[in-house]
Amino acid sequence: MAKQVNQLERTTNMKERTLAIIKPDAVADKNTGRIITIIEESGLSILAIKKLRLTAEQARQFYAVHKERAFFAELVTYMTSGPIYVLALESDNAIKRWRALMGATNPAEAAEGSIRKLYGKSLSYNASHGSDAPETAKVEVAFFFKESDFIR
Ligand code: ADP
Ligand code: MG
Repeated sequence: MAKQVNQLERTTNMKERTLAIIKPDAVADKNTGRIITIIEESGLSILAIKKLRLTAEQARQFYAVHKERAFFAELVTYMTSGPIYVLALESDNAIKRWRALMGATNPAEAAEGSIRKLYGKSLSYNASHGSDAPETAKVEVAFFFKESDFIR
């Protein structure tokens, strides 16, 4: 029994969470449904989803790592320009899997069939966000969700 429980814990621990955002341009272009279909068909499971509009303060905090970059002000304006959907996703290797589905930051360099290739317009307006590492995924998921929001 104890062995089975340990096995179960190991299996559960292999699951990883990541934060996905369907950015304002993709929502405005009515690509939300198409992006959610890509998520569902990929096998990533949606633990929680919410529509909201970021305040400038929230956008500055969420992207604080980029605050010294030349594009920071433009990024905050873009991310607050309309509603977004935030999603907590879970699977084995969720962080890498979601970033692979999104494609490269610059849609011009993103792989054929990736979300940014399909729906991104430019390096700035690139349709989606994904956490880039386990530490950032934890912080970003917690930025929008609490544990009791997650439904399996
Ligand atoms: P990613 O979203 O792929 O993790 P970054 O973390 O480097 O990429 O950048 C965050 C977001 O800032 C990008 O998704 C994009 O919207 C915007 N961005 C990144 N680099 C630039 C740039 N050079 N000019 C304008 N906007 C940018
Ligand atoms: Mg990033």
